[in-house]
Amino acid sequence: MAAVIGLGNMGLAMAGRLLGQGVVPRAWDLDPAKRAAAAAAGAQVPEGLAGAGDALVVLSLPNEAAVGAVLAALLPALPAGAVIADTSTLSPGAVRGFAQQAAAAGCDYLDTPVSGGPAGAAAGTLAMMAGGSAAALDRARPGLALLATRILHIGDSGAGQVAKLVNNLMVATNLVVAGEALRLGALAGVPPAALLPVINGATGRSAATEVNWPRWITPATFDSGFSAGLMRKDVRLAVALAQAVGAPLDATARAAAAWEGLSAAVPDDADFNRLSAAIFAGAAP
Ligand code: NAD
Repeated sequence: MAAVIGLGNMGLAMAGRLLGQGVVPRAWDLDPAKRAAAAAAGAQVPEGLAGAGDALVVLSLPNEAAVGAVLAALLPALPAGAVIADTSTLSPGAVRGFAQQAAAAGCDYLDTPVSGGPAGAAAGTLAMMAGGSAAALDRARPGLALLATRILHIGDSGAGQVAKLVNNLMVATNLVVAGEALRLGALAGVPPAALLPVINGATGRSAATEVNWPRWITPATFDSGFSAGLMRKDVRLAVALAQAVGAPLDATARAAAAWEGLSAAVPDDADFNRLSAAIFAGAAP
């Protein structure tokens, strides 16, 4: 069967999706309140992390330190041939190390970061970009297909994270650009309500204008389930990757600087869409 470790906005939604598909997952989180929520939803919550091992283990954790701590406790308890599918967003270098650790324990570790947010996780419509063994991905695919409608094998270990960081650097940049350009329109007399239908039927559109503005920014709901802090993490990882491989960043570096410069106006625990709204409102990094 399957286990989900890390029961935050994404992990709890994934556990709920598995339950809705008739799969009762093992579920674990450091936070007792998250474990209680998973148990109340019908998941099987073991006494400790070592009891959360299964043939397919899905991780959804905030950072590399958390994944390292989970693997240290979990790897000795996993059945041989188990596949760990790590949906956390991490650096490609770190996940290559995790894959080696898992191989030494007789298991496979795949980097399988996702796009689609908690709503996509709950509906099983995530886009998943996988790095690592194609054979291991094939073994995990029936379980992962309950969570993601698109599962793309990108390449060797770390390639999934490269794809995710490139994607999220573009998302972060598009949110900055949308805030700035929509402010230009508003100051020139055309508000977002008039501009967005034009842009979204024309060539300036992006997910920022097609999804983020209509769903979370215009109605001021700001309940996407993705925090500004996690997006800042992704931007930092992308910038570090660019430095590591010698890729020049110019427009995206300015957007990355906006995410850092507006950390007081849009703190880490705020919804990430507030960054675009703050720039629209005139905040300058
Ligand atoms: P979150 O902060 O809501 O949840 C993280 C969970 O991990 C928390 O419940 C926390 O208690 C738990 N945790 C931390 N350390 C742990 C440990 N050592 N052992 C067990 N549990 C531990 O984060 P999220 O929004 O659910 O995101 C999870 C991951 O998915 C992140 O890497 C994020 O970048 C990525 N991601 C998030 C989204 C989104 O829209 N929220 C989308 C795509 C990818």
